[in-house]
Amino acid sequence: MNMRLVCGSIAALCLMACSTPSPRQASATPPTTVQPSPRLLLVSIDGLRADALDRGLTPNIQRMIDGGVRARWMTPSYPSLTFPNHYTLVTGLRPGHHGIIHNSMHDPQLGGFEISNPAAVTDARWWGGEPIWVSAEKAGVRTATWSWPGSEAAIQGVRPSQWQVYDRSIALEDRVQTVLGWLAQTGPQAPRLATLYMENVDKAGHTYGPDSAEYRQAIQRADAIVGQVLEGLDARGLATGTNIVLVSDHGMAELPEGQVLDTERMVDPAIAVATSVGQPVGFQAMPGREREAERALLGRHDHYQCWKRADLPPRWQYGQHPRTPPIICEMEEGWDALTPDMLARHAHAYRGTHGYDNTLPSMRAVFVATGPSFKAGRTVEGFDNVDVYPLLTRLLNVPAAANDGNPDTFDAVLRPR
Ligand code: AMP
Ligand code: ZN
Ligand code: ZN
Repeated sequence: MNMRLVCGSIAALCLMACSTPSPRQASATPPTTVQPSPRLLLVSIDGLRADALDRGLTPNIQRMIDGGVRARWMTPSYPSLTFPNHYTLVTGLRPGHHGIIHNSMHDPQLGGFEISNPAAVTDARWWGGEPIWVSAEKAGVRTATWSWPGSEAAIQGVRPSQWQVYDRSIALEDRVQTVLGWLAQTGPQAPRLATLYMENVDKAGHTYGPDSAEYRQAIQRADAIVGQVLEGLDARGLATGTNIVLVSDHGMAELPEGQVLDTERMVDPAIAVATSVGQPVGFQAMPGREREAERALLGRHDHYQCWKRADLPPRWQYGQHPRTPPIICEMEEGWDALTPDMLARHAHAYRGTHGYDNTLPSMRAVFVATGPSFKAGRTVEGFDNVDVYPLLTRLLNVPAAANDGNPDTFDAVLRPR
């Protein structure tokens, strides 16, 4: 097993700093009668489209649904990309509010951010808002994360008590064993919140497309991993005391062969350069060439539409962040845009993608929850993924930081405490 578990000195400091009981725990109720909240396991299957649950491929997730709650779908935030949405799920903030506005971005002060750059992902200055593990640790509730985006940085000076640095080579089965080990810990330092992440479905969706046999097989494999989680909790006697919230970050759209544009044909690179590619494509004008860039790009074109940051559709809540590039181009569903360099390498490589308008059915994500806090056999209508953070704080009984979510979305499907 290739595990690189980290429990750094900042976490140790945090354990000391966070040992003061939360205001709720410090109430007049005698400690002997305080019922700890059930443990909470947050699972992400990257790129699992909402309709994947209706294809007869997911018997283990279906067991969760039968004993718990399913949303018809969950609407991701704009843009429907991995880092922006994973961080929205744990903060309840739109990407335009938490600042992870893309997987690749530029900040006037911090420079460039790439998800594969450890110096960037571990730098707390990129990560705004308050993720659930920080809300929990601040309230004295211990947490352990299997590589959730943001969990490798000391946000507000706080890290999860235990965390795993992202390493895609670690087998999904080994990840399950790590997470089960965390949940089986006992004593005051045992985590009450753990997270688990899988990227295999997203990878198959990109490489082969959402209608492929490979995407289908990847879904079956992720479902089998969920089965290992359920059986592992059962075997350790943890099933009845653990809530499980299973989410995805976005869906996946078919990308037919050849439907990819060259960013340098969208605008001459002497006038403006692409600062991010895929969907959305961001452009920054060269100094003094702003008007020409706007003339070349703004408005509707074949297969894409561009706006000035300030004129973006308000429903995306995306234009207000200084990291949002001055010009944003949104591709039509099923179209991609890459730099010539990337085109040379990837032109025929991708058959599926995401990042499009978050309200497209193909971008819809998954939400399933089960455990002692949830009623059985319930369905909620489609809701926005900003509502997940307030639910998580409620399940852990910790105070919620300011967020964009609706705390009432799950009222009808939660059991009274
Ligand atoms: P994308 O499909 O480009 O939006 O991003 C998906 C990719 O993000 C996955 O294939 C993972 O390899 C990568 N990824 C997911 N979580 C992390 C993480 N915590 N750190 C670095 N990369 C990650
Ligand atoms: Zn993703
Ligand atoms: Zn992806």
